[in-house]
Amino acid sequence: MDQVSALGAPMPARAVDAPLAVKLEGVSRRYEVGSGVVYALRDVDLKITQGEFVVVLGPSGSGKTTLLNMIGALDTASEGRVTIAGRSITGASRSDLFALRRNTVSFIFQTFNLFPTLTAVENVQCAVEIAGNKRGAKARAEAALTRVGLADRSVHYPAELSGGEQQRVAIARALATGNPILVADEPTGDLDYRTGVQVLEVLQSQARAGHTVIVVTHNREISRIADRVIELSSGQIVSDGPPLGGRADVAELRW
Ligand code: ADP
Ligand code: MG
Repeated sequence: MDQVSALGAPMPARAVDAPLAVKLEGVSRRYEVGSGVVYALRDVDLKITQGEFVVVLGPSGSGKTTLLNMIGALDTASEGRVTIAGRSITGASRSDLFALRRNTVSFIFQTFNLFPTLTAVENVQCAVEIAGNKRGAKARAEAALTRVGLADRSVHYPAELSGGEQQRVAIARALATGNPILVADEPTGDLDYRTGVQVLEVLQSQARAGHTVIVVTHNREISRIADRVIELSSGQIVSDGPPLGGRADVAELRW
């Protein structure tokens, strides 16, 4: 049944029904430094709907990584409430937080973080098994490597792969778990333009397939591929909306 506002008129369906992937309410993250206090995030309110493709933009030190760590339950708020995929992080037990990190949010880091002694497919398979899918883990790992264009590199070790290929293995690892929310912290930061484009294309196609994708960058050009750009400055959201000048395809970006 349609929800009805206080005035009796039907409310817009999307605003009411779209499930939220992320909800932050009055979130601050404080660090005590010496005798002073640094706010990495200050009183942030944010809602991200399932399936949105969001870029978080801001200069170094503006709080981008802190925000992603809140969303991925890698860090907890000093004040405020964080809800991820409908589950409250605030006051959650360690085992609840662990389950959330395993089954809800997948991370991609600037520095790839692959196990050097495991092959590409073993790196991905290992993550799938940790996420609780022992059966069929190898097949899922191989399918994810195919998805990122690395089927022919699956038995290579990280040291035998280029930076762009290593990052695509890390993305395959994130995709293979099937987690609904994908967060990436400066995923192209260590890559040249051409390999950076390959990485962004995979993230864009994942967003188009209906996943919630949240990418952090300090590069305004990259923010053009998102549905929505959230700008941070000194731990606060200073703008939130579609990219300036309209959305662009990855192939149109130049940096
Ligand atoms: P960004 O990812 O945008 O570069 P961060 O989220 O890493 O920014 O950091 C935001 C602010 O919080 C910075 O001023 C940083 O120095 C501070 N900060 C982050 N982590 C710590 C910490 N462990 N102790 C003290 N200050 C920190
Ligand atoms: Mg950072």
